[in-house]
Amino acid sequence: MRRNLHIKLVLIMVLLIVSLMVVVGAFLMNSVTGYYINDFYQQLADAFGQDNADFVRDLQTVTQDDEDAAAMLEEVLSAYAGILGVDRRNRNFFVLDGVTGRCLGGSANPPEGGIAVTPNISAALLGEEGFDSSVTADYMDAAIPITRGGHPYIIYILDSRETVRSLNAEMFSLIMEALALGLVISILLSFLLSKTMVDPLQRLTDGIEQVAQGDFSRKLEITSSDEIGQLTESFNAMAQQLETNIAELERAEQQRKDFVANVSHELRTPLTNIKSYAETLADGVGDLPAEMEHRFLGVILNESDRMTHILQDLLTLSRFDSGRSELRLTVFPFAKAVDDTYQAVLMDAQNHAHTVELRLPENLPQVRADRERIMQVMMNIVSNAIKYTPDGGRIALSAGQSGDRVWMEVDDNGIGIPESDRGRIFERFYRVDKARSRQSGGMGLGLSIAQEIMKQHEGRLYLVDKLEPGLTIRMELPVLGPGEEAGHGE
Ligand code: ATP
Ligand code: MG
Repeated sequence: MRRNLHIKLVLIMVLLIVSLMVVVGAFLMNSVTGYYINDFYQQLADAFGQDNADFVRDLQTVTQDDEDAAAMLEEVLSAYAGILGVDRRNRNFFVLDGVTGRCLGGSANPPEGGIAVTPNISAALLGEEGFDSSVTADYMDAAIPITRGGHPYIIYILDSRETVRSLNAEMFSLIMEALALGLVISILLSFLLSKTMVDPLQRLTDGIEQVAQGDFSRKLEITSSDEIGQLTESFNAMAQQLETNIAELERAEQQRKDFVANVSHELRTPLTNIKSYAETLADGVGDLPAEMEHRFLGVILNESDRMTHILQDLLTLSRFDSGRSELRLTVFPFAKAVDDTYQAVLMDAQNHAHTVELRLPENLPQVRADRERIMQVMMNIVSNAIKYTPDGGRIALSAGQSGDRVWMEVDDNGIGIPESDRGRIFERFYRVDKARSRQSGGMGLGLSIAQEIMKQHEGRLYLVDKLEPGLTIRMELPVLGPGEEAGHGE
């Protein structure tokens, strides 16, 4: 790529310089020639004009010893050579006979083969001034008819254009030199350009190749604020985004694998239990004491209940995941829901010798929510408190309103959750102490379901920091229900 762009750059520069020089050169040379021709005729027009009446009079007036008019004319012209610009080398004057056009004399010998009859001479032979020259011709001339002593003569000025030719040649070589210098500069410049343009592009290409191979470790350095810099910046942003997306995908994939493994594991335990108890019962039909049979059957029933429970939870989660679970919103008093939860768990709490305290402020508002789901969340966090607090503990339920949100908090003085696990307990199947919570029938799905429900309500479920042992967990939700702008106030 580098090669290619560089060659293109050099070519563009060279073409630019060459075309510029050609245009400038053509214009210059053309206008110098034009100026020179103009100047020639202007000078002659001035010489034969009113300002030089002396000159014209001297040409026309016959003097006493005027035997040879041509020689006299030559003498006058020689005297005025300056104003005619005659240098006797590149520009000469000749005196021609006005009738035959024959050369009678001049500042130099007439060119070999005589003086050609130019259009100007033809005009002068007809008695008109010949003041015309084509730009392309290699000479310029002027023929002025005059009469002296009753005889017509033609003053003929012939310029070989050698001056302008050598001027143009000089200019041409100058332009060539400038061209050569320009080319050298343009090649140097193109190196510089390629350094500032191609190099960053090359770096970008290398970076893209690296990313294409899945290596996101290197960020491209942004060396300029121009388009290439912007491109580099966008590329970095894109690579970063890609990296996060891939990481997210990998995490999701891992979660899915974990989920399947967890589900299999959770279902296998009760199934194994059911199988072994059922086998024992089948093997010893009639041999086992009735009291033992009864106990075994109880275990089997318990285990199948647990499986049903797991499957129900999984079904609920799967409905959330697929977005098929819709809230049945009704308006109900929040305080009543908290109180119902309290009444429902009271018996269970007393069985564990817990004291349960209920702190409900007056006039809590009505809320718009799915009552059954909200009750499910409340029940889960309160029964967690009962489960994970050693018997004889203290549990406090409180509720309140802040702004357009209501909250309920459950505080216990139980085993609490170690700092390292606090961030993870809302994950599916996550349990701090697997053995212990399985004993108490927990599968680690309760809080993840609860959090989904709170999200659906545009509410929140989170742990509250506390110093004393135990756990404080709080749920909050907008009074007006999900989808109401006013409900978003923080
Ligand atoms: P499930 O609710 O699905 O029957 P579970 O109660 O074990 O099972 P979650 O409610 O999701 O699951 O709780 C996840 C984990 O968080 C629990 O296993 C427990 O380790 C921890 N936990 C929850 N509440 C408390 C609490 N009040 N005190 C101490 N640990 C708790
Ligand atoms: Mg639970």
